[in-house]
Amino acid sequence: MGSAMSWGGGGFGGGGGGFGGAPGGFGRPAAPGLPFAGIPTELQGGVDGLLASEPEHPAPDVVFNQNGSELELKRLTLWRLLTKYRGMLALAGLLVVVISVAAQTGPELTGIAIDDGMSAGHEHFAVVAILAAAYLVFIAVTAVAQRLQVKVTGRLAAWVMNDLRVKVFAHLQRLSLGFFTEEKAGVVMSRMTSDIENLQQLLQDGLSQLAIQALTMVVITVILFATDVRLAAITVVLIVPALVVASLWFKRASERGYDRVRDGIANVLADLSESLHGVRIVTAHNRQRHNVIHHRNVVGDYRDANNYTAHVNALYGPGTQFLGVVGQAVLLAIGGEMVLHHTLKIGALVAFFLYLNRFFQPIQLLVQQYNTYQQGQASVYKLRNLIDTEPEVSESADAVELPPIEGEIVFDHVSFGYDPDRLVVEDIALQVAPGETVAFVGPTGAGKSTLAKLVTRFYDPTEGRVLIDGHDLRDVTMRSLRRQLGVVPQEPFLFAGTIRDNIAFARPEATDEEIFEAVRTVGLGDVIDRMPNGLDTVVHERGQTLSSGERQLIALARAFLAHPRVLVLDEATSNLDLQSETKIETALDALLENRTAILIAHRLSTAMRADRIAVVDQGRVIEVGTHAELVASGGRYAEMYATWVRQSDLAEHAPADSGR
Ligand code: ATP
Repeated sequence: MGSAMSWGGGGFGGGGGGFGGAPGGFGRPAAPGLPFAGIPTELQGGVDGLLASEPEHPAPDVVFNQNGSELELKRLTLWRLLTKYRGMLALAGLLVVVISVAAQTGPELTGIAIDDGMSAGHEHFAVVAILAAAYLVFIAVTAVAQRLQVKVTGRLAAWVMNDLRVKVFAHLQRLSLGFFTEEKAGVVMSRMTSDIENLQQLLQDGLSQLAIQALTMVVITVILFATDVRLAAITVVLIVPALVVASLWFKRASERGYDRVRDGIANVLADLSESLHGVRIVTAHNRQRHNVIHHRNVVGDYRDANNYTAHVNALYGPGTQFLGVVGQAVLLAIGGEMVLHHTLKIGALVAFFLYLNRFFQPIQLLVQQYNTYQQGQASVYKLRNLIDTEPEVSESADAVELPPIEGEIVFDHVSFGYDPDRLVVEDIALQVAPGETVAFVGPTGAGKSTLAKLVTRFYDPTEGRVLIDGHDLRDVTMRSLRRQLGVVPQEPFLFAGTIRDNIAFARPEATDEEIFEAVRTVGLGDVIDRMPNGLDTVVHERGQTLSSGERQLIALARAFLAHPRVLVLDEATSNLDLQSETKIETALDALLENRTAILIAHRLSTAMRADRIAVVDQGRVIEVGTHAELVASGGRYAEMYATWVRQSDLAEHAPADSGR
């Protein structure tokens, strides 16, 4: 049995039950090995039971819109996020009011019990008992309302956070390549983790606590004034101004502190992510110690920021408490004097004091919650900035579907610069006929990959147009364009999953037969044969367990399976040993047949296989022609070719010469 047969026959078990099975159904196991022999009869009952209790798994109803749906485009605000769940929000609001009022009845009831049930001449146990029972009822109401409120706000927060996570992720999928080159991955990660976490905190607990404490303050202020206007006025004049000054200072200081904390954590995450991604280079260059020192500094800044906020909190909390105690002492003297002169009942004074105590608590809690609120708001602000980032490459509102193309590519006087003030390619005029392969060659940094990125519309030209079959790329939908384009990047990216999933990435609905064909065409068969589980071998860590040649072959199979009319291959032949290179070049021949292709080639042996060659230098196409024409013309290509031939000859003869 040939190698192709061995992976073709035994590897898949046929049928495609592995990943293409119907949702909720029992597909055949994808793993190779013993054939699936059915469910043993003694287990059938249990399986039926499980299936009966299985929830429905409807097909996901996600519609990805390149320009964002109307709802997604609305400005991100806390209010807008919350009002999607109006019913829950109203219920939470109602519970907040119940808690704030019911919890404040105690001191009032105590005051009445003292004045009307216990004080001289008013000894009525029945009154005391009824008031105590009422007290209990209000406590019970408060407890039940609190429990419900925690449940309601918890659920509300979970829904809102879910919406937000999906919204931000969808937006990230929409953003163009430029964003991901400029923005550090760690910063994006910190938006998705710590910023969203902050918001979760705020929604779960912060907002309701803020509302409860603010409302409690209002309720208590009203009661204080109702109990005794003079004492209440003295409280306002004595304590409130000092409290306002302290709170304003705290607001400013803690804002500064939390800014530092947020920047600190973003830097820690960015540093961590870079170190993890670059772990191989770090190890290879013995930079571990340097990295530890750097990380220690970054973490140290974060620690200092946290210390600062702790310091600010420590000043404000006890400070306001002290103010409260001083205020109480003054009020005790004034209130006591009023009781002695019978202008205030003793019960009312007790109630006043009890309320006064409770008046400080919400202020302190409010201030603490204010931190959470501030962090949450800052996170909303940062997330809003992220969501408001417009993709540089966007789909125009009247973009049309690109019909099935022949594959003619035209660079119509194209200029482009990543920074518009510094052009990287300039005035490129080039026509690639349908079915033709054009190789771009030239020195490093000349702009070859940039030209390829313009064809795939990862970027838009600064000037001029790129046309496919006469359609300006900016006038067609991205989806219809990319469906007909195949891209094999310089560094093929493999996703976590099986090799099969990776090959079928662009067409998950591909049948096993089609996957076999792709594997066979690019000559991946014997590589897969060597894998422990054939096509179902799981690749880890972006395929780091595979060689770079193997990764490139998988990327070629992926491109082949997508059946694109136009292929863009970026240096698919670099960094390979001779044997892998030959293999990949054979795969390329199969892949390029009947397709328009742009091939960025470092090796002239690859370039020579193309129908025509374009020499790119300093952002301009300086020569175009077939290999023979360019060699005959004696220009730059001829020079490169002559050098290459000389080096190949040297390489060929070197061992023989030295042997002589
Ligand atoms: P190589 O053969 O080394 O891959 P190339 O010819 O493909 O080189 P390009 O990658 O097109 O070169 O780069 C052309 C120029 O554009 C270079 O000067 C490079 O520094 C710059 N450049 C490339 N990518 C970016 C980017 N994302 N942002 C800013 N400048 C970039």
